[in-house]
Formats: sequence, C-alpha cells, structure tokens
Amino acid sequence: MIYLDNNSTTQYSSSVKEYLKKDFIKDWFNPSSEYDYLSQKLSSKIIECKQYISNYINGSANTITFTSGATESINTILSLGTLKKNNLKSIITSHLEHHATLNKIKNLKEVPVFYVKNNQQGEIDYSDLKHLCSKNPCSLISLLFINNETGVITDIKKVVTIAKKYKCMLHVDAVQALGKWPIDCNDLNIDFASFSGHKIGSFKGVGFIYTKKPIEPLLFGGEQQSIRAGTYNYPAIYSLKLALQDIDLNKQNSLKLLRNNFEQNLLKINKQIKINCYKANRISNTSNIYFQDISNLVLVLYLAKHKIYVSTGSACNSSSPEPSHVIQALGYNKHYARSCVRVSLSTKNTQLELDLIIDLLKKFYKNI
Ligand code: PLP
Repeated sequence: MIYLDNNSTTQYSSSVKEYLKKDFIKDWFNPSSEYDYLSQKLSSKIIECKQYISNYINGSANTITFTSGATESINTILSLGTLKKNNLKSIITSHLEHHATLNKIKNLKEVPVFYVKNNQQGEIDYSDLKHLCSKNPCSLISLLFINNETGVITDIKKVVTIAKKYKCMLHVDAVQALGKWPIDCNDLNIDFASFSGHKIGSFKGVGFIYTKKPIEPLLFGGEQQSIRAGTYNYPAIYSLKLALQDIDLNKQNSLKLLRNNFEQNLLKINKQIKINCYKANRISNTSNIYFQDISNLVLVLYLAKHKIYVSTGSACNSSSPEPSHVIQALGYNKHYARSCVRVSLSTKNTQLELDLIIDLLKKFYKNI
C-alpha cells in the first residue's frame, strides 16, 4: 500500500503504536476520580500532557483545552459567546476555509460576515484584509494557517499586524501546520488556534484549543476543564502527546525535495497536467494536481486499484457530489475542480513509491 492522503488522516506514530501494544488496555480509569492511585496517576499525566503540548506551541498550560478534535475546537471559538465576551461585532474569513469554519459561520445567522479576497494561487489578499478590518474594526478574523487542499501557507504575522491595528482578534485553524511547520503562539501573538491529533499520528477524536484569554464553553457539564465539560479521553490525549514527541520538523526539508521532484516528473508526463497554486508558498507535503478533462474520481479509483491512496479533496466531502469549494474559490469552474486530485505525503513516503505513481500515470495516459 502507498498512502498519500496524509492531510486527511495519518497512521499512528511509532510511539502511539507502542502505547497501543503495551499500556493502552490498562488506562481505562477516569482521571477525575479521587479514589484510586491509578486515576490519580492518569490525572497527573494529563497535567504533564497539557504542559508538554503547551510548550510545543509556546503557550502556557492554562491556554490549552483538550477537545474531541478541530471541528469542536473551531465550533467553540467561532461562537456567539466568544464574540459577546470580547465585544466583537463581525467575522472576517475567506472562501478557502475548511467546512468546519464555513458551516459554523453560516450557522451564526445574526452575525455579519465578510470574506477576504484571494488570488488564483490560493493566497489571501492582505490589502483587502486591511480594507475589511478598517471598515469593520473589532471583528473576529478566522483563517487557515495552511490550506488542507492546496498546502498554501498564510503569513500569520502579517495578518496579526493588520488585526491588532484595527482591534480585531484572530483565530487560526492550525490543523495542517502542526507537525509540519513551527508554531509559536506567543511569538505570533494570535488569540485563538485550533488543532487536531489525527493529522499527526495520534488517535482520532482528540484535539485542542489554544486560547490566550478564557472563552465561553461550547459544552456544559462537569468541570474537568473550564471551557470544556466532559470526561477526559485520557488514552487519546496521551496519544496526542506521544505523536507530538515523534515529530521531527527537520524532515520537512527532504520531504519538500521529494514533493518537488514528484511534481517535476508529473509535469513532464504531458501538458495536460498542472499543479494548482504552484507559485505560492506551500507546505512541503501537499500537491494539488489538475488532470485536464480527466475525472478525479476515475483517477482516484484507478490508483486505488493499485493500492495507492490519494483523494479528490477534503475527506469530509468525499460523499458529496459537489467538487472542491477550495478549487472553485481559486476562480476555477466545477468542471476544472472535478479534475483535481490531492496528494499529501508523509515523511515515511519514498522516492520509489512516487516513481511508481509516475509510471502508473504514464500507463494511464497511454491507455486513454
Ligand atoms: N481544519 C482543517 C484544516 C482540517 O484539515 C480538518 C480535518 O480535515 C479540520 C479542520 C477538522 O479536524 P477534525 O477532523 O479533528 O475535526
């Protein structure tokens, strides 16, 4: 199997696999119970996890809240509670965001929403952002750090400078940045950020929120965490810490070389193949490829027959016949968007694997 859909989810990291084999089965206690040494042990390990994770993103432990994943994190931050508590009057976002953001915002019917322009390379228009902020000071800005479909990186420092000038607050969807790009919340001076574990090798159903200032909870109930009720999912939280420990950001440089070489070989196949957002500053693992007049579903299934796994875009949408909203937001039509395939590598992929795909694609074109 050649797995090239790592922006959708990842296989467990090596320490997480070890944990599953060795200790997972023992860790079923409720970390919030008082009665048992084992519960107490888990409770102090949760504190350790919080400390480790907050150090990793350079926050402090009280800025971290564990959630069931980034969808919950985003929904918690983009809420009427956050807006009211901070006197924020409107939301500024982009059409390139993940559906967790776009659909949550759609649901906040009474809040004015403004969408910042972007170019065909998938970069937001910073002067339009400035214009929107100047017209709508005290807004909550919500933007992706790294786009999950195109890999385009947002200049968060530039966004923060604009945000602060107009008394706006900033939420960053940092899901695709974690483990691939250095994140220093303190230095970036962002207000909120959302993270997910399963994109970096932890269990699914776990993530966290970074909040510089406390916000209103989304879920009310027990008081395990001040802004998030519910029993701690200890094994998942611990797996998140283990997965983070396994990350080596230095490997991103060789991954970029591998990806760039793959793209060059793709472009050599024929002129009907194009890389979306080719000129933008992109994260090292992602290629979004246009195969002119070829259905992306046909290509995905052709490769899957050879046990090679890529995707037509965001996995959350794979049951929907609607083609990628991100590709359409770049200014392309639906026909174009239906011919785009996302390849997202991990540091485990090899040159040999990518050469095999190139050969298969050459065969594919020969046979049509
Ligand atoms: N934001 C981005 C950029 C994503 O890629 C994803 C996952 O696809 C999410 C948010 C949602 O994350 P989760 O699966 O943890 O809810």
